[in-house]
Amino acid sequence: MNYKIELSSEEVPKKWYNINADLPCELPMPKNSEGRNQIEDLQKAFTKAALDQEFATERYIKIPQKVRELYMQMGRPTPLFRAKRLEEKLNTPAKIYYKREDTSPTGSHKLNSAIPQAYFAKKEGVERLTTETGAGQWGTALSLACSLLDLDCTVYMVKVSFNQKPDRKNIMNIYGGEVFASPSENTEFGRKVLAENPDHVGSLGIAISEAMEEALNNDNVKYTLGSVLNHVMLHQTVIGQELKTQLEIANEEPDTMIACVGGGSNFAGALYPFIKDKLDGNSDTKFIAVEPSACPTLTEGKYEYDFGDSNGFTPLLKMYTLGHDFVAPSVHAGGLRYHGMCPQISLLAHEGYINPVTAHQRDVFNAGIQFAKCEGIVPAPETTHAIKAGIDEAIKCRQTGEEKTIVINFSGHGMLDLKGYANYFSGEMPNSK
Ligand SMILES: *Cc1c(COP(=O)(O)O)cnc(C)c1O
Repeated sequence: MNYKIELSSEEVPKKWYNINADLPCELPMPKNSEGRNQIEDLQKAFTKAALDQEFATERYIKIPQKVRELYMQMGRPTPLFRAKRLEEKLNTPAKIYYKREDTSPTGSHKLNSAIPQAYFAKKEGVERLTTETGAGQWGTALSLACSLLDLDCTVYMVKVSFNQKPDRKNIMNIYGGEVFASPSENTEFGRKVLAENPDHVGSLGIAISEAMEEALNNDNVKYTLGSVLNHVMLHQTVIGQELKTQLEIANEEPDTMIACVGGGSNFAGALYPFIKDKLDGNSDTKFIAVEPSACPTLTEGKYEYDFGDSNGFTPLLKMYTLGHDFVAPSVHAGGLRYHGMCPQISLLAHEGYINPVTAHQRDVFNAGIQFAKCEGIVPAPETTHAIKAGIDEAIKCRQTGEEKTIVINFSGHGMLDLKGYANYFSGEMPNSK
């Protein structure tokens, strides 16, 4: 049996897939809120390429050759694995496959968008990129991408994570990224927050505002985002295109495809090329988006216009949202604690093309441990959500006898998140929150 399906470097996709061309109805545009022109701010803060891609409608967008080469040099295509030992352990007739984005040097799928974002910035003459990071995965990927493309990089890391995860800062420093605990003394907004509360632990909303402020005030600085926006989803579609080729080699048609969702980028990247087939009426695959019960955006949020950050610096986006002032409990899956969701995924969920489910924290760690014991890889806390749903589907197949093909996007490894596992073993981890 072929447990590992690999592609050659030359099989890295030559184009990104843009689902804007195939959505079942028109995607609502971002809006300014009353009294503020956030769309103008967006134009100042982002690269021109990012904004062009954000609103592009052509189905395929060519990947620049330099970006393809960097994808290859950083290890793409990533392998597809069959979780045969997990299947045996679960005693299921289902076949379980997982696409390994953990094999990226930074440990997750985030580099797929960090590389092109840094590439286009360099091409536009930008000298430095700024961003925020919560759990640290995006800041790590952008630091590496900036090193590869010879740009400076400044990361505002939410202070509570900065203190909890000193290894993340170390890695960003190794790649040349400059890391500040947010709120910081660097920006006007950070100073204002600190003046009001010197012990503030920070939030993604505050970190976004600090990183954006720098880009708004400096002509040679641009701001980048690692999820939520359409151009990030676009870049990530290299995952799903590779996966298509790999499943063809394995002679499989997926019945169920699963990914965890924070802002939506690994879900979009792995699944959009397959959702296209469903939109075209050519497949009946079920697409499951898994979120933490502590931050149930798709399952319990409202589909309405809301800000992307807590302070109203971004335009209003039509999306599923728990409200921009929602603060999720500090679950270990830091990458899934976002109040909103990618507008494209929100629309697809609203139209019934995606099945959202929630999972409790103890249950996902339990699933992650079950997986690690069979397959050897320790999943990131975010990724364990997808694994939990995959195991549930496989158990259903045991009960019905169906030989379904289940495909999980393995978004990242958890070797830098071992504290979460320790917390699980200590018995102190609360279940849902
Ligand atoms: C960032 C991250 C996520 C969540 O973000 P999405 O944009 O929803 O993919 C999930 N898994 C890992 C490993 C991450 O680093």
